[in-house]
Amino acid sequence: MNLIEIFSSAQGEGKFIGCRQIFVRMADCNLRCAYCDTNFSRADFCNVETFAGAMEFAPIKNPVTVAQVVDVVKNFCEQVPTHSVSFTGGEPLLNWQSVFDAATEIKKVCDVKIFLETNGTLADELAKVLSVVDIISMDVKFSSVTNEDTFTRHKKFLQIAREKDLYVKAVLSDETTAEEFFRAVELVAEISPNILFIIQPVTPVGAVKAASPKKILQFQAAALKILRDVRIIPQTHKAINIF
Ligand code: SF4
Repeated sequence: MNLIEIFSSAQGEGKFIGCRQIFVRMADCNLRCAYCDTNFSRADFCNVETFAGAMEFAPIKNPVTVAQVVDVVKNFCEQVPTHSVSFTGGEPLLNWQSVFDAATEIKKVCDVKIFLETNGTLADELAKVLSVVDIISMDVKFSSVTNEDTFTRHKKFLQIAREKDLYVKAVLSDETTAEEFFRAVELVAEISPNILFIIQPVTPVGAVKAASPKKILQFQAAALKILRDVRIIPQTHKAINIF
């Protein structure tokens, strides 16, 4: 596996905010979001936390084997009782076979859930790992952010993902138009109005500006007329300076 880092921290976004997780961050992504705050480029080395929560790292050579990943995860789970192992990125489903293999082996040695953080565009790959995944955090991507229309791919993805513990996250910025936001809301409602929909106000970066508080509340109010559970949850890990 080409990895960026493996570490133990608290989930800072979405439905499982605050839960202790082990993050396996995989290299490569198929999108280029304007607000992306993640370095997902392949590197010669993967940074592995020296122990769970140390926030200090030691490099190991890429590519990392599945056995090495399982070993690190097992050690961290022994050090800190852990809610779930997050396969994140980049886009982890670009390397679905490694996700499947690592998740399968992790489940044999640790009592943890497998959590998939994904941009929701690779439905065929999702189908191949679905049996080992417990929770799916899917981002819905707006064309104002990616410069491409991903909604057809999102629809196919949601049709498969809905059988798991699924929530959808939409990052809202000053740029987000009402048209694209409500297209996303309608898309999710078409699959099921019971799917949790999280509005994540963007953490401003570079030219990307925050949405106004009024806009955030107005969008939530209107979305709640279409979906049953729409929550406003900002990123929290940055507020307390953890990874
Ligand atoms: S999908 Fe995620 S990792 Fe990929 S560019 Fe967008 S924000 Fe970055």
